Amino acid sequence: MLRHLCYVVTMILLTLSPLALAEETQVLLGPGQDAVIVRDAAWKQSVWFDWGGHAILQRFLQLATGRQVRVLDRAPADDGRTVRIWTGRQAAVNRAIGTELDKLDDDGYMIAFRGRDVYVAGKYWWGGNWAAHDFLERFAGCRWYGPEPDFWKPKEAGMLGPLDIIPRHDAIRAPVQATIVEQPGYKMRWYRFMPLHSFRLRYRDKFHHALSSIIPPDRYGATNPDFFPLIGGKRHVPPLSAPYQFQPCVSNPQVLRLVVEAARESFRKNPQEGSFSIGMNDSDAFCECERCLAAAPANITGKRQRQAWAFFDFYNRVAAELEKTHPDKRLGCLAYAGLSVLPDGAIKLHPMVVPYLTRDSAQLFDPNEQAEFRQLVDRWKRLAVRMGIYEYIYGRGFVVPRLYNRYLLANVRDRYGVGVDGLYAESYPNWGLDGPKYWLLSRMLWDPSQDPSGLMDQYCRDLFGPAAGEMKAYFECLEETWCGQTLASTRSNYRWFLDARQLEIFPPAACEKAWAMLEAARAKAGGEAAAVKRIEYFRDTFALTRALSRRSAATAAMDELMKQPAPKPPDSTDTWLAPRLAALQAYLDCGSLETVVKGVPAVAMDDATLADVARYDRQPVDAVAAMVEAVAGAAPGGAAPSPGSPDAKPPQTAKEFIAHLATRAVLRAVRLAKPATIDGAITAGEWPAPAFAGQLYRIYSLAPHEQQTFIHAAWDDANLYLAFDCRQDAGTIQAAVRDADRGEWRQPAMLGDDCVAVTIRPSGAGSAGVRINANGALGFHNNAWGEGIRGAARHSATGWQAELSIPLKKIGLRPGQPIDCTLAIARFAHDEPPPRKAGKQELPRPRAYMILPAPQGKGVIGHGNHPGLMTFITGPRLVLVDR
Ligand SMILES: [Zn+2]
Repeated sequence: MLRHLCYVVTMILLTLSPLALAEETQVLLGPGQDAVIVRDAAWKQSVWFDWGGHAILQRFLQLATGRQVRVLDRAPADDGRTVRIWTGRQAAVNRAIGTELDKLDDDGYMIAFRGRDVYVAGKYWWGGNWAAHDFLERFAGCRWYGPEPDFWKPKEAGMLGPLDIIPRHDAIRAPVQATIVEQPGYKMRWYRFMPLHSFRLRYRDKFHHALSSIIPPDRYGATNPDFFPLIGGKRHVPPLSAPYQFQPCVSNPQVLRLVVEAARESFRKNPQEGSFSIGMNDSDAFCECERCLAAAPANITGKRQRQAWAFFDFYNRVAAELEKTHPDKRLGCLAYAGLSVLPDGAIKLHPMVVPYLTRDSAQLFDPNEQAEFRQLVDRWKRLAVRMGIYEYIYGRGFVVPRLYNRYLLANVRDRYGVGVDGLYAESYPNWGLDGPKYWLLSRMLWDPSQDPSGLMDQYCRDLFGPAAGEMKAYFECLEETWCGQTLASTRSNYRWFLDARQLEIFPPAACEKAWAMLEAARAKAGGEAAAVKRIEYFRDTFALTRALSRRSAATAAMDELMKQPAPKPPDSTDTWLAPRLAALQAYLDCGSLETVVKGVPAVAMDDATLADVARYDRQPVDAVAAMVEAVAGAAPGGAAPSPGSPDAKPPQTAKEFIAHLATRAVLRAVRLAKPATIDGAITAGEWPAPAFAGQLYRIYSLAPHEQQTFIHAAWDDANLYLAFDCRQDAGTIQAAVRDADRGEWRQPAMLGDDCVAVTIRPSGAGSAGVRINANGALGFHNNAWGEGIRGAARHSATGWQAELSIPLKKIGLRPGQPIDCTLAIARFAHDEPPPRKAGKQELPRPRAYMILPAPQGKGVIGHGNHPGLMTFITGPRLVLVDR
């Protein structure tokens, strides 16, 4: 660790009272004191996220003081009073600190005070951006703890994220003489999507699969088959469809030369790059030629081990060669599969070779994981001098907080016990759940000698002021809950990713405990508006976890009760029904998920996770279906109740709800004398009276949707006919799909339209579906199945209408035969006018998945974030009648 020196002195001075410092510090900017920023006149934005240190300083110094700060290309003459802040590697900076900057790590930077001249510069441009942020953190009290809405867009001045702090000052004070030197403890520090500059992150080590692009089979396969592995006596050149399926013949000196040349060429083109990947291909096809197998010493006897030895030896020879010209560079690779079979001490990797090992500290509460982690890391330690770690710090795929700082940060501090100096992580953050994790990690990677608990104190103090203690307790409670989980799993990395069982880690009791802490913090924050706002940011995100947890637990309780089947008529179902209705009532009382999702603050959750939140929502579909069956079956006269009436009072309680659904347990299709005309117009006399008329249910709240739907059902010897009269304000009707729905199976494009989806489950296994939208476009669950199905739609004075005809034999229905066929009918509607395009960016379309008939389903009726998704809840049974 090379960080050092006057910085320490500086910080001690700054913690003293301002009066005591009078002679050591000066006002850089304030009443009667002007400062200008002198940028490198040759400065040019190097990449899209290079703001330029001068622009960062100007923007935030102006925000912090309310004073104008000019950026100049040429220094003004020294007037004896103006402070000059120099940025970039311009001549004046190089004269003052250039020699020291050159000696630093590539990510190093300096802030140097020499009277009225202040130098804020990195060895390279990125360090210049970091130096500016560091300056603002130290001397203007600025903090960037979380996401900015668009941190990569420097032009939108004044943009600040919900967890950023830019305090207002009369004056900015700083030392008269001091030198601050910073360089990172971890060379590689990378995870997305983060405030790149204030977190000082840089993708530095390349380590992914690379050899197939250095030795492409389409280029060398024909001319140099000896570059490729000898397997079973034949050179194996992989097919062009899978060009990565080989490992090169590593004893071939020309292969060595190719790889070394590729590395040199890469560094020649990009001299600022610190690393080149020589990662093995994703393949088991190692060379077994005589020379490759002969390379290892005699005491290594297994063939796989001898192949691995040859491969490592190859890496070492590449490094030794490259060291002659580029001793400061690194060669990255994956710590992977077949390469870890070597016995201990068989070979040691050249220090320039840095393998990356995939591990997930989130699982280290599990003793088995700890043992496996230790064992793996130790094995690689014996092979490699230096190593990198590949973590999974999601974020994405989780709707519960995932905090395990005790393991993650301790590992970083200890360099994973093996001298690690590079970390790559998949993150896609949930800021509103895991807040401190990402910032703490960035700080520990920069300086692993720090105390994470002190950093956490700073985080809470800065963000929550008087409620710092309460919020620290809240985050500790979340961490304790994650780390105290007892769910069994065999999965090592990203356990519970995309798995709804993760909610069992945060059962309602745990959520209520954490929720109470948030409420206590909010009360403690009192009138401090900024602190209250930030507490609400975390509270409104955690509200989603809490709601999903309650719904999940209520549904699980109901499913448990449903294990006891309903009594058969003529026995009364009342006694059976009562506790189940009470359980359903508890579920309904959980409230609407839609409302909670809407309350999640912008950028607090990973977009993809939030869009897909229904994946984690457990709905009591099977239970509701069973109760409806029981009630409908017990109704006098069997299962043929009248259709719902549009004027009926919407059900308020679980009991009313089930009774109401029972009235639509059956959909009666009437025999037609003359086939319906499929033109989208429901004309007088063409169709029988509606088989259903009324309101479908909103999928999240189970509340009746305001808009009415009329369903006509009919049949003749050839077809089943369905017509939908969808009442809707004409101005809100929208459909983008015009011909075939080419959306993905699980997420058809048409479900963003005003559309009706019918999923049919004939007797026996399987189901098939057809969708029709307000344009009359058709989409199918299975395109082959769709043949022979016709549909049409048109807009009407009261909304839109659609007609479908489906050949009876497709759904296994035969006139006169007993019927056992279930239809799930869902309608997707827009409550609001079409979204206008905001700038270039199109607002996201609502998404939804297919609806499956409930009775034999897995308890999922629909997926997605479509606010207007409505459904029957239970698919009705279809009955064909003559009249
Ligand atoms: Zn070979």
